[in-house]
Amino acid sequence: MADDKLRQELLYMVRLTSKYDFSRMEVVEGILRLENERQILGSVFGKRFKTRIFDIAAGQAVDETCVICGQHADNKVICQHCLSTIGESDYAKNKIKTKENDKKPRIPDFKKLIDKIKSISKQDKTKEEIKEKVHDRISLGRVKRYVKGVLVFCLTLILFIQIWILGLWFTIPDYNPTEEARVSSNQVVPVESADDAYAQLLLDFPEEEGYTVTYSREDADYVGRFLLNPGDCCLEIEDNLTDEERYDYFFKEDVYVFYISYLEENTGKVGIAEVNHAGSILIEGSFNDGRRTDSFYKFR
Ligand SMILES: [Zn+2]
Repeated sequence: MADDKLRQELLYMVRLTSKYDFSRMEVVEGILRLENERQILGSVFGKRFKTRIFDIAAGQAVDETCVICGQHADNKVICQHCLSTIGESDYAKNKIKTKENDKKPRIPDFKKLIDKIKSISKQDKTKEEIKEKVHDRISLGRVKRYVKGVLVFCLTLILFIQIWILGLWFTIPDYNPTEEARVSSNQVVPVESADDAYAQLLLDFPEEEGYTVTYSREDADYVGRFLLNPGDCCLEIEDNLTDEERYDYFFKEDVYVFYISYLEENTGKVGIAEVNHAGSILIEGSFNDGRRTDSFYKFR
């Protein structure tokens, strides 16, 4: 058994020597690491072999003798004679046969091992890079999703606000509807004094209904205004007069001027009334909602 172990050990050394370049430290390190696990090179030859290949890899000066027979060795480890004797022995051939039958390499392929170690460390690196990239992508995706959510929320909110405003717009009541001009239902009666005019006005704006009629002054206004049809707006008519019509229209006549007011809890109306001697009446003010309050209307 001990014999067999030594032969196995020598064959192992021969194979390593013919296969590897011991000047490369990574190769020698690989061999020695594996040797630590398996403890194959336990004999004096094995120990010498390990020291020799380590010295070669480290670049130290070594005596160029064969670690097995002590003769000169060109490769500084095992001489050609030992290599061929051991490598071509019946034992070695048997081992090769067994190996072929097993299809399991006894001698580990250090080159492959080294490449594997390298690729594993590379893989680790790329794995970490991928992890980081994936992490970046995930957080970017999260931010995108978040922004999209906020955007959708804002747009929806704006839509609802618009709908709400539209609804409000439709529900706003028409607070100031345009009404037909108010006209008097009383007959035109000539007046000779302010008191007569006052009495006529009270027919249309009675105190018992809440109106207050106050005499202001005597004044003068355009003749044409008192000749309009009831309900006509003086300014509108005057804008469209021809030159000839203007000539007759803008003479002046004396009028009595009164203030009229009407106050309720939620409503206030104020205005001016003018009465000429013929008894025609013009009114101006907020008696007629939605119409122009800066112009006289023919009232009676
Ligand atoms: Zn030798």
